[in-house]
Parts: sequence; structure tokens; C-alpha cells
Amino acid sequence: MLVTCPHCETQFTPTARSCPACGDYQPPLASTADYETNQAELEISGGTSVLCVHQRLVDKGFSEIVADDIITSARRNVRRANRRTGGYRILAGAGLLAGAGLLALVSRGAIVVFSILAIGLALFVAGMIQYVSGANLD
Ligand SMILES: [Zn+2]
Repeated sequence: MLVTCPHCETQFTPTARSCPACGDYQPPLASTADYETNQAELEISGGTSVLCVHQRLVDKGFSEIVADDIITSARRNVRRANRRTGGYRILAGAGLLAGAGLLALVSRGAIVVFSILAIGLALFVAGMIQYVSGANLD
């Protein structure tokens, strides 16, 4: 989302603290909230502690309450993304389990069937945990 400088009409992303053309205009903090939510999301999913992100937001001038809001939506987005990955794992695991079942019907290769079964089960269980908790298991 771009903001427009009222003095020179330059458009810039609200990551800049002031207008890059005339330096005369500072975008309102509220216009940077979306950007900060995305940043916080990247930081949290990258392993940065919530306290660090919170402190960074407060340092930038956000109130405690707004900083908390930004972090809450960032964490919600991170959980949603992790759930999606968990969902794929469940599907992949279920597919492998079904494949192992089919293979067991037509083949006597017990080790192969058992390996596929084990991988499928591991994926399935990991997917379920990730889906339920929204945690990042990678
Ligand atoms: Zn300007």
C-alpha cells in the first residue's frame, strides 16, 4: 500500500519514515500498520521472539495496544499458514498410507510396504499436530 506525499505528490511505501523526494512529510503511523503486520509475520515465522517484535514496534512509535494488535494479527496469519502446511502433510500422509495399503495387496515386499506405511504415518501425525496447534514444525 502506497502513501502519497501531500507536498510533492510522490508516492512511496510507508516503510520510509519521511517522503523520499522532499523529506518534508512523514506518513501517519496508522498507514504503516499493514506493512508492519507483514514484517512481524515474517519475523515471527523466522523465529524472532514476540517480545523483540513488540519492542521494535514500540520503538517505532506505536502504542503498546496497537503493537499488541499488530502482533496478534501477525501470529494469526502465521498459524493459518502453518495449518495450511499441516493440511498438505495430512493429505500426503493419507495418500502414502493408501498407497502402502494397495501395495500390500499386490506385493509381498513387506519392507517396502512397511517403509511407506511408516513415512505416511509420520507425515500424517505431524500434519495433524501442525494443523491442530498451528505451530511451525519445520
Ligand atoms: Zn514529498
